[in-house]
Amino acid sequence: MKIAMIGTGYVGLVSGVCFSDFGHEVVCVDKDPGKIDRLNAGQVPIFEPGLEALMAKNVSAGRLSFTLDLAEAVAGADAVFIAVGTPTRRGDGHADLTYVMAAAEEIGRALTGYAVIVTKSTVPVGTNRKVAEAAAAANPDAKFDVASNPEFLREGAAIDDFMRPDRVVVGVESQRARKVMADIYRPLFLREFPVVYTGLESAEMIKYAANAFLATKITFINEIAALCEKVGADIKDVSKGMGMDGRIGNKFLHAGPGYGGSCFPKDTMALARIGQDHAVPMQITETVIKVNDEIKRRMIDKIVDLCDGSLNGKTIAVLGVTFKPNTDDMRDAPSLTIVPALVGGGAKVRVVDPQGQREGEALLPGVKWVESPYQAAHGADLVVLLTEWNEFRALDLSKLAKKMETPRMADLRNIYSLEEATEAGFQTYAAVGR
Ligand code: NAD
Repeated sequence: MKIAMIGTGYVGLVSGVCFSDFGHEVVCVDKDPGKIDRLNAGQVPIFEPGLEALMAKNVSAGRLSFTLDLAEAVAGADAVFIAVGTPTRRGDGHADLTYVMAAAEEIGRALTGYAVIVTKSTVPVGTNRKVAEAAAAANPDAKFDVASNPEFLREGAAIDDFMRPDRVVVGVESQRARKVMADIYRPLFLREFPVVYTGLESAEMIKYAANAFLATKITFINEIAALCEKVGADIKDVSKGMGMDGRIGNKFLHAGPGYGGSCFPKDTMALARIGQDHAVPMQITETVIKVNDEIKRRMIDKIVDLCDGSLNGKTIAVLGVTFKPNTDDMRDAPSLTIVPALVGGGAKVRVVDPQGQREGEALLPGVKWVESPYQAAHGADLVVLLTEWNEFRALDLSKLAKKMETPRMADLRNIYSLEEATEAGFQTYAAVGR
């Protein structure tokens, strides 16, 4: 199959590379000349484990290429995937469809024969029909169908998620489009990964419902964690005991500083707006958004308490600022709420993150970036463990404590325990929900 992938961000690039690894001929398109230059030089503009090697393999096999020229990529393609961003629209919380609709028009103009226009971006219900209208308006002679193919990969594990998905969701309305999609995903279907065919609206809805449900699960356990702190229960035991119930499952039950990232915050907000537009308020999702904001603020209170009520003049070492480990993505990371509050309170903040500095430098003004957790902790009053990178999971706690002015730790990912921290010389150790 010949595939054009529009957008080479976290989703577009991973999808394009993986489709080429299935054996398809893939041309990836982006509007950003810097990205295309880097890709053509064999460099991956984002940090995603395993991506550079898989990209190099398929480029050298002649199945994968990169261009700024959308029309050239679309001409002759069997399927054109839209994988551009759908950020929160400024001011109202709706998904901003500017990039999707601009891509739809451009694709419409560039079509030379029948193709399926596939929306991979996360888009509100009804968008695929708008994509069809936009492409048809741009080129009334164009022959195409639309398909909705939402993506469920997780950054940091994106290749494995794409190659071994729990399911592939395909919303289609014509047999011809279904056949094209089946041919594209045949390598997964043959390995018995399920492909779920639905209508367009259901496919669009599945993505928002799934993300809102996961955000709810995280927020639920974070709220239970707050209660655990008051009643003397340990959230790790509570999560374990709950998660063994097959109806609940043990994933997404880890208490922490609140969800962030490029999807949950914007997708919960967009679902809430879709509900309001249709006079069916998404009350649970609306509450989840509110509670998640409160959880992040509660983490700031916890840090202030550990600093004896005032951040002013304190030196704080922050370990990890990306929204989760194994990515360089800083979008809506909890650190973007927590770290500025520390700086604003007069603390001197040192930050260490294995991949976050490139994105984080502009987003976290007033902090000092250092190379190692021990360097960050030197003379510090408090260490805050904010992102559970592997590098921070096996710290030499005694060495860390010895470097500090006052050995205190806020372990917002529940990596360590009170016993081991105390044994290592920490005066104070605070976690979440314990
Ligand atoms: P991103 O911001 O990393 O990448 C989007 C890319 O599209 C950018 O490189 C941009 O330059 C390019 N672009 C925009 N308009 C273009 C155009 N007209 N032609 C060519 N290129 C264009 O975004 P992302 O994180 O990859 O997310 C893309 C979509 O996938 C979003 O809707 C998101 O919600 C969804 N999604 C993301 C994830 C994730 O983990 N990041 C997971 C599942 C779904």
